[in-house]
Amino acid sequence: MSLKCWQSLAAKPRLFQAKEIALIAALDKFRRMVAASFSHVRAWVFDLDNTLYPPEARLFDQIEVRMTDFVQRALGVDRAEADRLRASYWARYGTTLAGLMNEHGVDPGPYLYEVHEIGLSHLDPDPDLAAAIQRLPGRRIVYTNGSKPYAERVLAARGLTGIFDAVYGVEHAGFRPKPEQAAFEAVFALDGLAPEEGAMFEDDIRNLAAPHAMGMRTVHVGPEPLPHPHIHHHTSDLAGFLSQLG
Ligand SMILES: [Mg+2]
Repeated sequence: MSLKCWQSLAAKPRLFQAKEIALIAALDKFRRMVAASFSHVRAWVFDLDNTLYPPEARLFDQIEVRMTDFVQRALGVDRAEADRLRASYWARYGTTLAGLMNEHGVDPGPYLYEVHEIGLSHLDPDPDLAAAIQRLPGRRIVYTNGSKPYAERVLAARGLTGIFDAVYGVEHAGFRPKPEQAAFEAVFALDGLAPEEGAMFEDDIRNLAAPHAMGMRTVHVGPEPLPHPHIHHHTSDLAGFLSQLG
């Protein structure tokens, strides 16, 4: 416990001192238990969107408009139908792109370029997150259902360039998306990553099922916990969560 913490406790009545000491000890014990559950981890895999930046940036508001534009033009449907298909393919296939490829033979290259041409002015550098990620032992990886060029733009806007050993996009899994286990297997094989020594950080809980089944430690990153058997931990503060692992 820090000197400042003891000084603040010493100024309080004894009953409160005892309660606070017990609470601090319990929190410290919990922190050590969480840290112990990651002691075997040598590969840290991070999703990108709404995981390495806060959902308040609302980048998907921009991306979804561009996805609907693309669907409308590529399939020759009206806007309402394009919006419905965008959402239903996302729910059914994991990404809108996978639905477009499977059901309409759409070329993924132009789609990925077009939907990710968005403004990133809502993103700020996050030095605390950068420092926490840099302290992690072993390989540090980004794996997104977006494209690698888009991921690199986002990482630059967050001040996270150069701290990851590799950045993988949906193109590295042959355009098969998370949550398909085959997509994770393709990317992890490419990287030489052993899942049983890995941890996966994600905002979309669907994308933690396969990593859990493959033996990874799973962390849901989001504003609210969504308890599920394939989620080991939840945090709304990724930098804070990573800091307690050291
Ligand atoms: Mg995400």
